[in-house]
Amino acid sequence: MGAFCSVIKFENLQELKRLCHWGPIIALGVIAVCSTMAMIDSVLWYWPLHTTGGSVNFIMLINWTVMILYNYFNAMFIGPGFVPLGWKPENSQDSMYLQYCKVCQAYKAPRSHHCRKCNRCVLKMDHHCPWINNCCGFQNHASFTLFLLLAPLGCIHAAFIFVMTMYTQLYNRLSFGWNTVKIDMSAARRDPLPLIPFGLAAFAATLFALGLALGTTIAVGMLFFIQMKIILRNKTSIESWIEEKAKDRIQYYQLDEVFVFPYDMGSRWKNFKQVFTWSGVPEGDGLAWPIREGCHQYDLTIEQLKQKADKRVRSVRYRVIEDYSGACCPLNKGIKTFFTSPCTEEPRIRLQRGEFILATRGLRYWLYGDKILDDSFVEGVSRIRGWFPRNCVEKCPCDAETDQAPEGEKKNR
Ligand SMILES: [Zn+2]
Ligand SMILES: [Zn+2]
Repeated sequence: MGAFCSVIKFENLQELKRLCHWGPIIALGVIAVCSTMAMIDSVLWYWPLHTTGGSVNFIMLINWTVMILYNYFNAMFIGPGFVPLGWKPENSQDSMYLQYCKVCQAYKAPRSHHCRKCNRCVLKMDHHCPWINNCCGFQNHASFTLFLLLAPLGCIHAAFIFVMTMYTQLYNRLSFGWNTVKIDMSAARRDPLPLIPFGLAAFAATLFALGLALGTTIAVGMLFFIQMKIILRNKTSIESWIEEKAKDRIQYYQLDEVFVFPYDMGSRWKNFKQVFTWSGVPEGDGLAWPIREGCHQYDLTIEQLKQKADKRVRSVRYRVIEDYSGACCPLNKGIKTFFTSPCTEEPRIRLQRGEFILATRGLRYWLYGDKILDDSFVEGVSRIRGWFPRNCVEKCPCDAETDQAPEGEKKNR
């Protein structure tokens, strides 16, 4: 309920300008086209309201639209939650474990990161999503994920109506069956004739809406599974990257440490309950987090500080082994690369065999970093920044000879 109030109050009218962006305009356009066409098709051509099935169908359609929009606007307007400006930890001693954000004039609370688009430190930041024109993080993780679940379900329902409408209109009487099941849909046909004749324009509009609905089902459905994985492991995509770099750092310096990710409670159900609650408000305040037994409250931030001090790990050097055109969703780099293309406005960079890349963060199938335009790898050379597929590059083995380990990290080398 609290969530609902903050949507209708629009505490900050400034938030409305989030709608003026290509992401929300396209997303709301797709929702509008699919739901309007599904309702028009249902009432006028396919499943009239005077049958029980027709009424249930229509109520379901309205239900999907309302729930999808409710979660979408919640994700957009409630936002991820930000670290308060000027924030410092209660115990001033703890600030030694935290990084400082100069823009927000605040310490970065555990799990928070500074978003350049929002220009604030975002609580439990996962990514900045252009479709809601806001970050996905602590407060809106549940509504964002529910939107990702409901949108494909609504689209599947709409797609079914589109297909049936086109089918019933192409064949005057519909009756199909198998050996044991026989479904007679002739009752669904308007008698004597539909209110409006199903002309070419209506057919084209329905076909267009069907394309949108199927595309949305696949693309958004994939995003839903990615978000569920993040929630069940209680590990954001940024944190997966920090963990990967931690393993790399420990292996490189052959240290005795083991990095245990501290926020995975060890049970999927416990992780799930942290995000999804009956009240709609996530557990905790987003600044302090429950941790796994045996872990320290600041394990992750300490690891981040170590990585910051270790220039070699802060950005991992890769060599390009396969050309890449810079396409958003490349068709020739494997199906997983195609479907997991990062959902951001950040650019992609074109790669050519033999080039070098410094990766600063990454996802399972994609990396983000700088292309080094000058082979000599000197500070300050011009660089191109963006995303590229992970399977086009390989980690550089040559670092071992050129880089110096930070003091105290050398061991048995
Ligand atoms: Zn900040
Ligand atoms: Zn953001």
